[in-house]
Amino acid sequence: MIKGKFPTDKFQSLETPFYYYDMDLLRETLKTVKKETENKKYSIHYALKANANPLILKEIAAYGFGADCVSGNEILRALQCGFPASKIAFAGVGKTDREIKIGLDNDIFCFNVESLPEMEAIERLASETGKTTRIALRINPNVDAHTHKYITTGLEENKFGLNEPDLPKAIELISRSSHLQLIGMHFHIGSQITDMSSFENLCVKALELQNWFSGRGISFEIINVGGGLGINYHHPNHCPIADFEAYFRLFGKYLKLQENQTLHFELGRSVVAPCGSLISRATYVKEGISKKFLILDAGMTDLLRPALYQAYHHIENISSGKEYETYDVVGPVCESSDVFGENISLNQSQRGDFIAIRSAGAYGETMASAYNCRELPASYFSDSL
Ligand SMILES: *Cc1c(COP(=O)(O)O)cnc(C)c1O
Repeated sequence: MIKGKFPTDKFQSLETPFYYYDMDLLRETLKTVKKETENKKYSIHYALKANANPLILKEIAAYGFGADCVSGNEILRALQCGFPASKIAFAGVGKTDREIKIGLDNDIFCFNVESLPEMEAIERLASETGKTTRIALRINPNVDAHTHKYITTGLEENKFGLNEPDLPKAIELISRSSHLQLIGMHFHIGSQITDMSSFENLCVKALELQNWFSGRGISFEIINVGGGLGINYHHPNHCPIADFEAYFRLFGKYLKLQENQTLHFELGRSVVAPCGSLISRATYVKEGISKKFLILDAGMTDLLRPALYQAYHHIENISSGKEYETYDVVGPVCESSDVFGENISLNQSQRGDFIAIRSAGAYGETMASAYNCRELPASYFSDSL
């Protein structure tokens, strides 16, 4: 089995667990995205919620990408890390007045509006400041993303987005307001999508909706198809970069843009997941009745995805070259769901070995908690270790 390359000698003096980011891989990924989208009317907004570590954000901002934020504090973080306000979009179902004001005060690119009462709140706050603000309608396209139910967001009766029956009211509200400028449609159907036909269905639906709007004299500067491109969690060493070429080609084929129209993408996971690993030490090897447990010093508080949505992460013992054995790899937290993987094949492991949990750069560090009074994990970067 091929394993990832890690500077384990440099890890010796560090306390575990921590996140380790391969910055060369991040840059290769960003270059690939840039290459596949330049010379096209495509614009990339990186979704901060996947990883909001300032050093990661600065690197992404340096490539000229915009930011997709889902809270007021994410907007502030994006601004601090070099994303220009003119490239910040703000989504989320529960924007508070404080958060809307952060967006208005900084004159961000666009609010992606998810409900009628939210639109009324933005209109009221914008009129109080005398500003006109750009909005896009986040529409629930009722497209199945064929992914885990907790990360499916585009089916009907989901908390996200406006449903089609809301649209006539939305248009009416906008046409009555002198503070809202409608510039686009926004969609986001889910995350870790590997079935490309879901994106094809989204394109068909987006064009249908565009027709509906143009029948009412409304055209859009932007169509925003959200994020969701999946990565290969099973083979981090063979497939370190997602298939951006096929992804962007699909949209080129199925979503023909009008003159003066730009297609926006909000990529999160596919940009940052592969470059991050959670590095831990084995605390104990415990012989069970019919299994062996490898108990790590990292737990669900450091990387929640396996406990939250039964996510798979590839696990490697990066200290041992011994014969392979089978383990249940678990954390120390007092929850039965604190399990990183069952029946995992690892080089024979012992107390003190470094264990790498791969593809943890997205929805890893950002979801860390202090449950059980645990420390938040530190982060280190290949550039500066
Ligand atoms: C989470 C999110 C994204 C990013 O999704 P990924 O699957 O990480 O690419 C994009 N847009 C919105 C609105 C989101 O909530």
